[in-house]
Amino acid sequence: MARIGMHFSLWSATWTEASAEAAVPEAARYGLQVIEIPLLAPERIAVAHARDLLAAHGIAPSASLCLPPDRLATQDPAAARDVLLAAIEVAHALGCTFLGGVTYSALGHRSGAPPTAKEYDAIVAALQPAARAARARGMLLGLEPCNRYETHLLNTASQTLALLDRIGEANACVHLDTYHMNIEEKGIGAAFRLAGARAPYIHLSESDRGVPGSGTIDWEDAFAALAEIGFSGDLVVESFVTLPPEIAAALCVWRPVAEDRYAVLDQGLAHLRRLALKHRLIG
Ligand code: MN
Repeated sequence: MARIGMHFSLWSATWTEASAEAAVPEAARYGLQVIEIPLLAPERIAVAHARDLLAAHGIAPSASLCLPPDRLATQDPAAARDVLLAAIEVAHALGCTFLGGVTYSALGHRSGAPPTAKEYDAIVAALQPAARAARARGMLLGLEPCNRYETHLLNTASQTLALLDRIGEANACVHLDTYHMNIEEKGIGAAFRLAGARAPYIHLSESDRGVPGSGTIDWEDAFAALAEIGFSGDLVVESFVTLPPEIAAALCVWRPVAEDRYAVLDQGLAHLRRLALKHRLIG
């Protein structure tokens, strides 16, 4: 069975003891099974507190990040590798079995040209040791292809699968997101079918990043394809309701995309659960 989760950004941009204590009980009340923790500053996470809080509410953690702009894999693979290794340590200590996101670049970084062989070589050099470290801890390392306005490096499932072949580690996987797929793929279902078991963790996000079911994502196609590939991983809703100005700027969110988080938790989750049940992804 798949699990349904929520990116922590629904409640707050930063995981602190206070923001976590406010969010986790509410997540549990809504029956969420996973919370994705942003690990942009892993050293600031109070690990024991987070573990205890999540365990008390029966919620599993996952983690995501993007690289800092001054430690890009394409420009300094050793520095990017070290960022990933530090995040893997903390993610593992939190009890995560998945670290994903833009693990190969920074949010909004574009060279102004198509990706080069040299850039891909550098990403492989940074991510191969990170994937091995993750594997040693029983973790998956995800690479999230993003739309062309947020990165020039990986826009599609197909590009990401080709780079994963070069990384050559079975626990390195493609982290697909319906918002980006809606912009870049020929179809959301088609890309899920292409990735198959190599896409064990999905971001469910509406075409405007708002309330799932209120936009133009073809959710029926998405869930039918997930059922077809026998998906049994995590389906994590990503909806940018609460963003600090710097993250909103990097993601180009210039207006409210939902009335408040309850629109996502009430209408959005119900819509996704109904489809996941219909396609027997959840019981
Ligand atoms: Mn995403």
